[in-house]
Amino acid sequence: MIFLLTNDDGVDSPGLGYLAEALAELGKVYVVAPERERSADGHSITMHKPLRVKFKGRPSQSLEIWESSGSPADCVVIGIFDILPSKPDLIISGINLGSNLGEDVTYSGTVSGALEGFLCDVPSVAFSLATFEAPLWDTAVCVSKLIVQTMLDFPEPFILNVNIPNLPLRQLKGILFTKLGRRRYIDRLNKRVDPFGRPYYWIGGYPEDVAPQEGTDIWAIKEGFVSISPIKLDLTDYDKIKSMESWRERIEHHLKEKCPSP
Ligand code: MN
Repeated sequence: MIFLLTNDDGVDSPGLGYLAEALAELGKVYVVAPERERSADGHSITMHKPLRVKFKGRPSQSLEIWESSGSPADCVVIGIFDILPSKPDLIISGINLGSNLGEDVTYSGTVSGALEGFLCDVPSVAFSLATFEAPLWDTAVCVSKLIVQTMLDFPEPFILNVNIPNLPLRQLKGILFTKLGRRRYIDRLNKRVDPFGRPYYWIGGYPEDVAPQEGTDIWAIKEGFVSISPIKLDLTDYDKIKSMESWRERIEHHLKEKCPSP
């Protein structure tokens, strides 16, 4: 088995290190990860400057570590097309410190690592531990390894977004297959003034404290379950397509009149 492991917390993050060691018991692990934190960089790729890659070491026969100046998606591309001797059996991103739930997946560098893996026709999975404090890496590594072992029996390309509650293993309630939930962030934009009187901004905020919808990833984590969301790249709103027929006539009518506004 050949694994390509990346993340968005940076090559030195503990979640990546512990998972790399655990996966090295199952096969050959190539870590190709960003040299610095790239959380919330989404699915960015580097196109307007050179990408650098540095060999960090070979802690064991089955583990090789590389760092790159690029994003998680860059790391996956470099790994597949240059560093790895052949196509990996699985691409793994994480384990991220902090959850990636609901619309977080659109910002997440962790999830984007897995999305890029899928684009390269490899089954891919993103792992996130749902805490920023006192992470219980043992739980997250144990769960992640079991899911990886299970995925290997289903080799067709698909993407899983996995979130793991920060609980001791025995307190986990089980596993749920979930859909992405929705959580609105509040206080998203913080505007301040610098010592020279010019405005600057912090983007961030925190999720609104409302009861999550049952069956969502947010709900599963709140209830103490491991959440596994199979996700797709197709963002098309199929219901909306059906209800948009009237738009065509209206827009085409104005196009014929060389585009005066409606
Ligand atoms: Mn991160």
